[in-house]
Amino acid sequence: MAESLHDVKAESTILIIEDDIAFAELTSATLEEHGFKAIGATNGLEAMDLLSTTIPSLIILDYSLPDMTGAAILEQIAGSGLSVPFIMVTGRDDALLAVQMMKTGACDYLLKDAGFLDRLPAAVLRTLHDAETRERLRRTEESLRQSETRLARAQKIARMGSWEWNPQTGDIYWSDELYRIFGFAPGEPQQVEMDWFIDLINEADRPAFKKAVNSAARQCQPFSLIYRIKSRNGDDLVVNSQAEVECDSEGRAQLVSGTTLDITARIRAENEIQQLINYDTLTNLPNRTLLHDRIRHAIAQAARDRQMVGVLFLDLDRFKGINETLGHNVGDKLLTSIAKRLKACVRETDTLARIGGDEFSIVLTGVSNEETIAAITKKILTLISEPIYIDGHEIYTSGSIGIAVYPMDGEDVHTLLKHADQAMYQAKERDGNNFQFFSSEMNIKVLERMLLENSMRKALEREDLFLLYQPQVDTRTGGIIGMEALLRWRHPDMGVIVPDKFIYLAEETGLIIPIGEWVLRTACHQAKTWQRQGFPPMRMAVNLSAKQFGQKDLDDTIAAILLESGLDADWLELEITESTIMKNPDSSIRMLHKLRGMGISLAIDDFGTGYSSLSYLKHFPINRLKIDRMFVRDIINNPDDAAIVEIIISMAHTLKLSVTAEGVETRPLMEFLSSRNCAEMQGYLFSRPVSAEEITTILQNGLTY
Ligand code: C2E
Ligand code: MG
Ligand code: MG
Repeated sequence: MAESLHDVKAESTILIIEDDIAFAELTSATLEEHGFKAIGATNGLEAMDLLSTTIPSLIILDYSLPDMTGAAILEQIAGSGLSVPFIMVTGRDDALLAVQMMKTGACDYLLKDAGFLDRLPAAVLRTLHDAETRERLRRTEESLRQSETRLARAQKIARMGSWEWNPQTGDIYWSDELYRIFGFAPGEPQQVEMDWFIDLINEADRPAFKKAVNSAARQCQPFSLIYRIKSRNGDDLVVNSQAEVECDSEGRAQLVSGTTLDITARIRAENEIQQLINYDTLTNLPNRTLLHDRIRHAIAQAARDRQMVGVLFLDLDRFKGINETLGHNVGDKLLTSIAKRLKACVRETDTLARIGGDEFSIVLTGVSNEETIAAITKKILTLISEPIYIDGHEIYTSGSIGIAVYPMDGEDVHTLLKHADQAMYQAKERDGNNFQFFSSEMNIKVLERMLLENSMRKALEREDLFLLYQPQVDTRTGGIIGMEALLRWRHPDMGVIVPDKFIYLAEETGLIIPIGEWVLRTACHQAKTWQRQGFPPMRMAVNLSAKQFGQKDLDDTIAAILLESGLDADWLELEITESTIMKNPDSSIRMLHKLRGMGISLAIDDFGTGYSSLSYLKHFPINRLKIDRMFVRDIINNPDDAAIVEIIISMAHTLKLSVTAEGVETRPLMEFLSSRNCAEMQGYLFSRPVSAEEITTILQNGLTY
């Protein structure tokens, strides 16, 4: 403090305006004695003159001067823009005047009395000190104002607003710029409330915003969040809010404060750049860069899901010619239309890209077999080859597609694209409008399957399917106790095809449902026909596939067929494999109970090859086990197989189930099985599967074996 007072003195020049020269000199001497520098003026004019060159730190002003009053001088000083503190000196002991002087801005006033010179130094010192303090305050305020203006200006330029939120009271403060960013006039609305603000936020981003705000308030978590907001003017903005949290000693958030930056323009620019980098400008489809990325992702996903990725490489046939004869403008429009058509063929999760002039690529994800890929490819080729109308021209085009499949044809982007490209050239060589898998085995497999699938659809319509029947014999009596219906397909080119070659395909395509129904109906009608012809009634065994058995209304379908054919349910037996039942044990049990309830008998086919879960068997309402011919075949030479068959037979007896041995081809086999208490058999020894007419003959004449 002492030091600052000393400073005040050292720098201070004091102007004494006083017409009484002797008094002025006394005053001046006293001040200089105390370390001040004093200058003097004897009237108003002289004082103003001096003030135009020198600015004193303090003025000691005599109220009554010859040319003007002290008040008038002060007015002039103020008018010239100076603000110098002053002490008024007056000869009259007049309190009123003193008050008036203090009102006009005097820092102090002193009476010209005997104590004047004693009081003077202290009064001067105090005034100077006060003035110094006031000045410092003014400067601080000024610089604060300046930095606030600067901040506001910076915020405006940066489109950044600041805010504060008191989670305890809910009070929210917004800076002017924040109001502007959100499209409001500063201060309107006066009371910003959290719920009101949340309503401005894009609905999809609200949960994230609420979460951030909650964890700021509850766990003192700072956050940085990008979200979308609808401004008052209806503009869609993207903003980035960053927040800091002040917490008390108990970890309660006292104040959350932060900035909000309008990044709409930046995001838009970024999007535009992304668009340029990743998309083709003509068709707006992903370009080669993005394609690589998408294939890479698809591979990663497929590796996790153990699935395939189909990479298709499509090149339009004759595009060059069209471009040259009809012009680039038409060429561009053609490409755009093709892009649109292609888009319609692929799913949202697939990628369609344009990778060059008339070259496109399609990435098929989530596929588990080549047939699906081939089917989509065929669809694409059909769509492309439909005529396109552009500017009055009817344009016919077609495409050649090469296909590479992950993981068989390559495990990385580069290899897959290269192989798809090679395959495309092969397709092109075969006259275009064609597709080609990269690997030849796949081509053959797919081609065969597709041919088969196509002709299978027709087989049903053209009645190319037929049934053979194989007798089931009770070796104790030698009589026929049942028949198994076995499906055959008379293919126009390939001749008669056995079920092992086409049932799986019928399963995959769903064709097994109508085919299976046809088998059931035909078998039931045949069984009833034999009954009507007067032959002793016998079981008709029909095989059911997994998909058929999985149908919810299977019982209704069968009931309808029984009704229609007139066959009593007691004479129908359904053969189901263990693996079919185990696919969905719970619903299987329910269906088995329903079928048993109808009076139908149930057999487990190929027993021994599947789970052979004996304990499980108890829970299934079944009548019969059919021992798979794999075991039966070797029982004489292979003691293990013999043991298994013996166990199955004795277990079946314990569970009060019937047993039928399949694939009995020789007499020794029959004798072995008979000696082990298995009397019911089926196999070539008795009869191969034969036509209904041949069975009729057998029924008339009896079996010879
Ligand atoms: P499965 O039900 O086990 O039928 C017995 C198969 O063994 C038949 O083959 C039959 O011809 C053959 N077989 C019978 N006795 C002998 C023998 O002594 N030695 C040898 N080596 N084989 C014998 P098929 O007709 O080729 O049928 C094969 C499988 O196809 C059947 O096995 C059955 O699972 C399935 N299947 C047949 N018809 C149908 C049908 O209509 N629907 C369904 N879903 N599957 C069927
Ligand atoms: Mg069978
Ligand atoms: Mg079998």
